[in-house]
Amino acid sequence: GTGTSSHSPQLNGFSSSNNPKANSFARRQKISQQRRSLPIASVERRLVEEVKNNDTLIVVGETGSGKTTQLPQFLFDAGFCRDGKTIGITQPRRVAAVTVAGRVAEECGVELGQKVGYSIRFDDMTTGSTRIKYMTDGLLLREALLDPYLSRYSVLIIDEAHERTVPTDVLLGLLKDVQKTRLRSINGRESKNKNPNSNNEEGAQSSIFKPFQGRKLPPLKLIIMSASLDARIFSEYLGGAKAVHVQGRQYPVEILYTAHPQSDYLESVLVTIFQVHLNEGPGDILVFLTGQEEIESVERTVHEQLRQLPEGKRNIVTYPIFSSLPSEQQMRVFAPTPAGFRKVILATNIAETSVTIPGIKYVIDPGFVKARSYDPNKGMESLIVIPTSKAQALQRSGRAGREAPGKCFRLYPESEFEKLEDSTKPEIKRCNLSNVILQLIALGVDDVPGFDFIEKPSRIAIVKSLEQLFLLGALTDECKLSNPVGHQMARLPLDPIYSKAIVQASSFNCLEEMLITVAMLSAESIFYSPREKSEEAKTAMKCFASPEGDHVTLINVFRAADEFLEKRKTVTSKDKDDKILRKWCKENFINSRSLRHARDTYRQIRGHAEQMGLHFASCGDDLLQFRRCLAASFFLNAALRQPEGAYRALASGQAVRIHPSSVLNQTKADCVIFNELVQTSQKYIRSVSIIDYLWLTELAPQFYAMAK
Ligand code: ADP
Ligand code: MG
Repeated sequence: GTGTSSHSPQLNGFSSSNNPKANSFARRQKISQQRRSLPIASVERRLVEEVKNNDTLIVVGETGSGKTTQLPQFLFDAGFCRDGKTIGITQPRRVAAVTVAGRVAEECGVELGQKVGYSIRFDDMTTGSTRIKYMTDGLLLREALLDPYLSRYSVLIIDEAHERTVPTDVLLGLLKDVQKTRLRSINGRESKNKNPNSNNEEGAQSSIFKPFQGRKLPPLKLIIMSASLDARIFSEYLGGAKAVHVQGRQYPVEILYTAHPQSDYLESVLVTIFQVHLNEGPGDILVFLTGQEEIESVERTVHEQLRQLPEGKRNIVTYPIFSSLPSEQQMRVFAPTPAGFRKVILATNIAETSVTIPGIKYVIDPGFVKARSYDPNKGMESLIVIPTSKAQALQRSGRAGREAPGKCFRLYPESEFEKLEDSTKPEIKRCNLSNVILQLIALGVDDVPGFDFIEKPSRIAIVKSLEQLFLLGALTDECKLSNPVGHQMARLPLDPIYSKAIVQASSFNCLEEMLITVAMLSAESIFYSPREKSEEAKTAMKCFASPEGDHVTLINVFRAADEFLEKRKTVTSKDKDDKILRKWCKENFINSRSLRHARDTYRQIRGHAEQMGLHFASCGDDLLQFRRCLAASFFLNAALRQPEGAYRALASGQAVRIHPSSVLNQTKADCVIFNELVQTSQKYIRSVSIIDYLWLTELAPQFYAMAK
């Protein structure tokens, strides 16, 4: 009994396009017809049977076949939510969780947050009546901290498993165990298939968790879902689980390569967009780029160049889509293309499999992706732009052939394709593990190297991460959570290094400043500088720039926006605020999307900090306190100036430069700390602040007294 009635139309007379009820009726009809025509619709009954008969099932199907939107509805209709249980679906990406939940709510004719909802970090759109819940994989992992048996779920669907994100990989191991524990709660005995990899010596107790005591729990249905995946790996890992394939629809896609390697792929992207626009038939274009900055720069240039075209050829609309884009704006990509226009979607690899955008006929693929990379020996994580794998290239080109034959323009020579890796390396093999290890320990996993990972991270990566957690004060000598710091850190949904900063800030009397900093750092590119107005943008940035560095500069921006809103506060509507804020951002060359994201994040983590009873205070003008706190928190990322003017990162010994976008890019300061290392033509550090070298030995003796 959810709010369907307000949506269900009354058929009285003929529909007229001015009648909103008739319009919504037409829309419902269209949606239900679309649903029926999806490839997965014809196998509904079979899928439901398979789920009933198998506790673990693998579902493989081409992108767009309807797995993510339809399967949860099938299972709901088949009664899997009886007894008030929920069907949970995880997504590696926030965007996918939000957009798909919106779509499914619409398909069900309910308001988002009722029967269908989503929950992602810092944004929860669920209520007690939510039965189909989309969420990020990371969020489900956090839920396990509070409810180790995930007892509210009857079915858990791990979607996009081929992405092999760290939380997905860890969830697989955890859920295998939850399944066993739940079975035991019913049968009152050990399940037969004992985990052969478990090093647990107590024998009778095969679970990684504390012994199960208490009520009986219904069995957990586990479904692993993915686009193109080697089902065998998953099947073997999950004790020979059955795999079902859903046929997709794929029209032929013509692949075109460049004759020569391209020195500037952004330039080639622009040329190709206009070439398609001017020479090819109707159909929308999907362009794969590596991140927000690239997307925004290409978007601006497309509009600049459009102005130079004859009037009748300017019929292009552009839509960006990337993870940190606020959800209302993400949804715009799905709106129908205005009549007579060509839609150009500028996307990160989000559009590879996570979201399906109708109408795409042309794909432009420069062949790059931004990926995490981790050097465990140096303990250094960085973001680098690397070539895609073959699997990714195929997936991308496939996006052009969903509704009709299409074309894919690969902006590299065919010989380069042959050199690509077959598939992408799982993230767990190329990232810093301290976040996930802190969570595993908080979950009660004592033997982290012995955890049943689908693919084990290297021993050195585990050891380095444990060491980092120890240096941050999260772990005791026995590798248990320290009290209270470790417990507090585990409760915050942030990277341990940021959690530490927040926990620490209360004792430096600068919690407010640190919360703002962490929120601002969690948004990509706060400042924006269009090429044609780069001088104006530079002048605007000077108003906020602090000689102490980027952290204080970010705080200045955040506070200036707040003060401006405060002054203008005539009405208290959020929409009005947004509008005023957007205008202010535009005048000040601030990226309003990013600022909004940061403001939301601030509210959320402030809530967490308050709940944890951290002492909320501001250091006011005493920024020395704040910078000392930066040093005490980010000491692992300190760098010393070298005679030639470059810097040397102390923990790793690497030579780095301060990124041109930093307010400190001309600094001569001896010692700085930073939050990000990016590697392009060289290694750059970003988000940099000046500290005093002596603070390191004073505030982080556990690292500097012994190492240096
Ligand atoms: P899969 O998970 O198999 O890749 P989905 O269930 O995500 O497929 O999508 C099935 C179809 O639903 C897509 O082909 C698309 O046409 C439609 N669809 C999905 N999300 C949206 C949305 N937000 N707006 C409009 N149509 C959508
Ligand atoms: Mg999907």
